[in-house]
Amino acid sequence: MNKEIPLIKDLHDDNRPTINLPDPLEDYLPEKILPEKLLREDIPIPQVSEPEVVRHFTNLSQRGYGVDTGFYPLGSCTMKYNPKINEEIASFSSFANLHPYTPEDLSQGSLEIIYKLGEYLSNITGMDKFTFQPSAGAHGELTALLIIKAYFKDKGEKRKIVLVPDSAHGTNPASATMAGFETIEIPSDERGLVNPNILAKYLNKDVAVLMLTNPNTLGLFEKDILKISQMVHETGALLYYDGANLNGIMGYARPGDMGFDAVHVNLHKTFSTPHGGGGPGAGPVGVKSFLKDYLPKPIVEFDGEKYYLNYDIKKSIGRIRTFHGNFLVLLKAYCYIRLLGSEGLKNVTEMAVLNANYLKERLKDLFHLPYPDLCKHEFVLSGKKQKEKGIKVLDIAKRLLDYGVHPPTIYFPLIVEEALMIEPTETETKNTLDQFVEILKAIIKESEENPNVLKSAPHSTPVGRLDEVHAAKILKVNWK
Ligand SMILES: *Cc1c(COP(=O)(O)O)cnc(C)c1O
Repeated sequence: MNKEIPLIKDLHDDNRPTINLPDPLEDYLPEKILPEKLLREDIPIPQVSEPEVVRHFTNLSQRGYGVDTGFYPLGSCTMKYNPKINEEIASFSSFANLHPYTPEDLSQGSLEIIYKLGEYLSNITGMDKFTFQPSAGAHGELTALLIIKAYFKDKGEKRKIVLVPDSAHGTNPASATMAGFETIEIPSDERGLVNPNILAKYLNKDVAVLMLTNPNTLGLFEKDILKISQMVHETGALLYYDGANLNGIMGYARPGDMGFDAVHVNLHKTFSTPHGGGGPGAGPVGVKSFLKDYLPKPIVEFDGEKYYLNYDIKKSIGRIRTFHGNFLVLLKAYCYIRLLGSEGLKNVTEMAVLNANYLKERLKDLFHLPYPDLCKHEFVLSGKKQKEKGIKVLDIAKRLLDYGVHPPTIYFPLIVEEALMIEPTETETKNTLDQFVEILKAIIKESEENPNVLKSAPHSTPVGRLDEVHAAKILKVNWK
């Protein structure tokens, strides 16, 4: 598995012809049919045989790790199993090959799917209207903040501050900056939650919006959400819901009922689309009706007979991307919701929460557990006991790779020292969870008996331990 794969250019052989065209086709080689000035110079395409090409790329493809190869408890990312039936439907040529400029009359089916997905998501989140243009969660945050900015501008209010708790995902302050706001961080209390007494000190007429993730990134439900919502609204500010953790409450609680004014949903997380390799994703944004007129346009509407694109949105912030967003991701989410139905979606939440609490209880003696309360779909451990003995959580994460497991999220959220953020998801069996516990026990034992094996891990992967600072800062790689 670990053998070196040469670069394809190194497989090149001058004596190996790349293509053998049968005689009649020889007459159609570019040099025979094109005028000389249109012929390109020789481009250095390696000459390799067909089996060599196939083996090269198949071997490369097997170097990756995904939910389909093993357990992937990456906290905050909801790396759950993605039903293959959704992929099959998304590959139907009537969906996959539909040109985005196809007239409405000829694309009624696809428009209906977008429209109905909007209705389902409104139902699930308690919102009134959705846009499907945003391509990911972060893109949804930016969209919503631009909507909120337009709303305040319209009201003649100059509110320039976005509040985010210190447990928030890094995209929250980043999106706020991109939308032209200033971010102020609110410290969490000893419960790991936003505390109304602390929040009160930060709320004033300059605050435009409080961005919250609920359950938060510690996997804990913000118990004071109704009080928080009331306080935020009393100062005239709005409440934004980062929906990345919807897997922890779906079917049981709705952000709209908690008082949130705008939300994004990460379809590629909660609603099962393969992600993590750079997309594609979808981060639809839902708003309460008072913000509806600011949504990006067009919006898919239904006039009782036909689905159509509504460009007549008075105060729209304009387009946030081309066409209708990542339509095939929307389609997969639609299929997933239809497949499970409302009872099925509730069951997803139940199992996700059960699995997380099961793992938490089984691992709490091995690590430090800073917030021992019942969690939702994920929880955060601390490797500070191990750190005292010279083993970093990074060493443990790297060693997990040798056991064929994708490590949990580490060093996030920032408020937990040596954080290990674990999200098993609802699709894993008890067997898999038990194996994970045994592997972690074995690694902790190794850390006491043979710490060097952790510090130099991973040993069995195609690439060993990387200098991550170098990898991030020096983008040009010298292959030789
Ligand atoms: C994943 C995530 C985001 C960002 O979503 P993307 O789809 O990756 O852009 C925002 N907030 C939280 C809590 C997340 O887990």
